[in-house]
Amino acid sequence: MTKLVRCKNCNFVIEEGKLGEVCPACGVPRSAFEEFTPLVSEKRRKLMELNSHPIILHFALGFILFILLLTVISLIFPTFYATEIYATIKVLSFTLPFAVILAMLTGIFDANTRFKKITTPRLKKKIIFGSAFLVDSFILLFVTYFIPKSTVLLIVVLILSLIGEMFGGINGFLGSSLMCSRVPNGT
Ligand SMILES: [Zn+2]
Repeated sequence: MTKLVRCKNCNFVIEEGKLGEVCPACGVPRSAFEEFTPLVSEKRRKLMELNSHPIILHFALGFILFILLLTVISLIFPTFYATEIYATIKVLSFTLPFAVILAMLTGIFDANTRFKKITTPRLKKKIIFGSAFLVDSFILLFVTYFIPKSTVLLIVVLILSLIGEMFGGINGFLGSSLMCSRVPNGT
C-alpha cells in the first residue's frame, strides 16, 4: 500500500514519494509532515480523488452559463451574429440535459463511494436540486427547438438559464463541504 503523509499545518495529504521540500499546499518545510493512515481503502480513496462528480457538474454549469451569456448578447445586440449565436444556444441546449444526467450519475456514484448511501438529508436535498436542474434543462431544450425565435422566447430562455444556473450552483455549494467527508470503512 502507498504510504501517505499529512501536513500538520494545513492537513494536506500526499503520497510520501511525491512530497518535495515544502508542502505543495501551504509551503511549510517537509519536516511538518507526519505519517497518515487513511480511513478508507486505497481503491476507494483513488475513486474519490477522481472527483468525477464536481468535474462533470462544471460542464453542465458551463454550458448553461454560455446559454445565459449568449442570450444576453442576443437581447442587447439583436443583429450581432444573430443566426450563429442562436444556433449555438440551440446546440448548447441540446447538450445540456446529457451533461446534467451525467452529473447526476457521477453524483450517485461519488455519494455511494463516499457515504455508502444516498438517502441522507444533505444528499436527498442534492438529488432534489439536481432533478430540478434536469427538468429545467429539458424545458430549455424544448423551447429552443420547438418555439420559433422571438424576443419573448429569448427572455424565457434567459429566465430558464438563470433558474438552471441557480439549481446547479446551489448543488455545487451543497457539495463543496462534502468533498473532504468520507465514511471510515476499510472496504
Ligand atoms: Zn501544508
